[in-house]
Amino acid sequence: MRKPLVAGNWKMHGSLAANAKLLGALVEGWTGAKSVDCAVCVPFPYLHQARALLGSSDIQWGAQNMNAQAQGAFTGEISGPMLRDFGCRFVIVGHSERRQLFGESSEWVAEKFSAALSHGLVPVLCVGESLAQRESGQTEAVVGSQLDAVLNAVGAQELSKGVLAYEPVWAIGTGKTATPEQAQSVHRFLRERVALADGEAAGALRMLYGGSVKASNARSLFRQPDIDGALVGGASLQAEEFLSICLAARPKD
Ligand code: PEP
Repeated sequence: MRKPLVAGNWKMHGSLAANAKLLGALVEGWTGAKSVDCAVCVPFPYLHQARALLGSSDIQWGAQNMNAQAQGAFTGEISGPMLRDFGCRFVIVGHSERRQLFGESSEWVAEKFSAALSHGLVPVLCVGESLAQRESGQTEAVVGSQLDAVLNAVGAQELSKGVLAYEPVWAIGTGKTATPEQAQSVHRFLRERVALADGEAAGALRMLYGGSVKASNARSLFRQPDIDGALVGGASLQAEEFLSICLAARPKD
């Protein structure tokens, strides 16, 4: 049985004052930890604050990126051991904004995924196609090759220690959500691809949907058999909305 996970991706948003309010409201309002894992991935400078405010709560925290090297002359970068120093459990790797805006290749993302595991972090691997790729029928080829880069690098058993997030690029921050059927179809494709390597690992792998998830559409997405939660951008900045999405992920009775 896969425990659902809802993770917030704050992107480059927040301030000490705004975070204190948001995290305080999440801690006060979160009651579903027995059946759902709830996490927030905050900008690096706020990891200390996240640890201080969430440390004795049922909400976990993480980062949005990391370098695959443990240390060295990599000006401006942050390593896995540094994230562990701040109590991070999760780290997002291969978000489409990093792939598109910062030129991250799938091979690079695979190195980060592997390094995250070796430092005791749970990597959340993002894959997803652009609108043009979807419209030209390339969705499975694109997400398949993004997945394969990591699968070939670490193997299915290691992959299943992380989390896979399907995030169609055309649905991120646009208000356009994939229909539950569209999302399920890609999730099933991805799980079947992992199952070709290892059925048990595929069955254990948590797979999140991401792309304009809101309280109003979360439940129908979570009803799909291969969707085990969500990676939430914009809506994770509003406590009530984010808590409603987390609660919607409670397993169907
Ligand atoms: C994201 O940033 O991963 C994301 C899914 O954003 P949004 O929910 O705002 O579409």
